[in-house]
Amino acid sequence: MSQGVPTVETLYHSTRSKDETVTSKQAILAGIAPDGGLYVSDQLGKVAIDPAHIAAQTYHATARDVLAALLSDYTADEIATCVAGAYGSNFDTPAVTPLTPLGGDWLLELYHGPTCAFKDVALQMLPRLMSVAREGDGRGVMIVTATSGDTGKAALEGFADVPGTGVTVFYPHGKVSDIQQLQMATQRGANVAVAGIRGTFDDAQTQVKRIFADADVNRRLADAGTVLSSANSINVGRLVPQVTYYMDAYAQLVKRGAIALGDAVDYFVPTGNFGDVLAGYYAKQLGLPVGRLIVASNTNKVLTDFIETGTYDRRREFVKTISPSMDILVSSNLERLLYYLTDGDCERVAAWMADLSTKGVYTLPIDVMDRMRETFACGYATDDDTRETIRTTWERERVLIDPHTAVGVCVAERRASEGRQRVCLSTADPYKFSADVLAALGHSTEGMDGFACMDALQELTGMEAPVQLSGLRTAPVLHADVCNQDEMADFVEAACARIF
Ligand SMILES: *Cc1c(COP(=O)(O)O)cnc(C)c1O
Repeated sequence: MSQGVPTVETLYHSTRSKDETVTSKQAILAGIAPDGGLYVSDQLGKVAIDPAHIAAQTYHATARDVLAALLSDYTADEIATCVAGAYGSNFDTPAVTPLTPLGGDWLLELYHGPTCAFKDVALQMLPRLMSVAREGDGRGVMIVTATSGDTGKAALEGFADVPGTGVTVFYPHGKVSDIQQLQMATQRGANVAVAGIRGTFDDAQTQVKRIFADADVNRRLADAGTVLSSANSINVGRLVPQVTYYMDAYAQLVKRGAIALGDAVDYFVPTGNFGDVLAGYYAKQLGLPVGRLIVASNTNKVLTDFIETGTYDRRREFVKTISPSMDILVSSNLERLLYYLTDGDCERVAAWMADLSTKGVYTLPIDVMDRMRETFACGYATDDDTRETIRTTWERERVLIDPHTAVGVCVAERRASEGRQRVCLSTADPYKFSADVLAALGHSTEGMDGFACMDALQELTGMEAPVQLSGLRTAPVLHADVCNQDEMADFVEAACARIF
């Protein structure tokens, strides 16, 4: 498929009902379907991108093909502009997501963007897709996000100075790492607002949901020409850009002579909300020779238990781990996979999701599970396993990995090879989690702040921390607001008044 060739139109509808269809632009602006379902397209599996074509081209060209295939109401010019802007000098390597050797396997480095985590790949693109989608609509779009640490900064970087948009981020004051706090507090851009809140991440999340549902707030904002929106990972505009790096990793393996065209490849994916690994399934549906997708979990192993037993049960204790971006008990994007595994049976999907929300548990029939297991496998790693993997990977390979990546690598090491090349997705720069990585290498971190740990880690490994993180030391703090939970709505309204 190439740019300019008319593609099949991709219309989207909810996973829970086919009654209303929307264009991909509308789906991206709305984020979630009105019935609470996630937007899916029945074109998935009907259009294909030729792997031979992918293997011969750049990351950017593949990104354009993927977007054209899945977001057909964007013009070729719109897509080209979005791709060029999203993956330019804001990534610290022209390869965007380079593939490097890890023993006999491969590491796919997804952390070369402005915030040093894989969420940049999607959040550098989503604001551009939204900006195009709202063209001709004079209203300003205010993104409101609660964050436990990583997503907030990636959203701030993505939306900073994007015309027609603003972004407000709330984080739990005193409950994110000092480096994460500085990443947000030093954010530049005329359209950004950041506040710590007195409370936990869950408090922040609950209040944000309340603000979205507050009719008075929304009416006042509408009168002033503003709508609220979310940059949550269930937005198709976040999912689709992630498909690109599965394809590009394949291309890199072909170019290196590690595989022949047509050989299948296995991918190990550190998983939380099931967005990243679902993008691998989309790549397979678009014709990429994917062998197996291995879902790697931390101690919050709801998905491992689910894939093994067929029962999804969120009724368990939530555990805080050293891979916090995977500390999730309800993996929202799984709903999309259920839709495709049942050949689009909205009624069954809606019933399972209703059970999940009322009872906290549902069980899939054997035939659906069999179908899932044709592609998906699973494994998990405890915090001790994770630290051990960080240490042995450093000692044996001289490769430094972050705790999220280490969960995937640990699962790969324990799993027998099926004779295919294996790619481990590396989702964050190790320096983003300097303290835990330093401790995993056997060093004391007592009394040390994030920068002291970063220094010690640089000394120990001889590898430099990325400037996106080390530069925070001298960056001016621009956002020092801390507010109470009942002041959050006012904070959003004030930000809208200032920005739009
Ligand atoms: C968000 C995140 C993950 C989990 O990705 P999902 O798409 O939620 O499964 C893994 N690692 C890091 C570093 C992340 O920020």
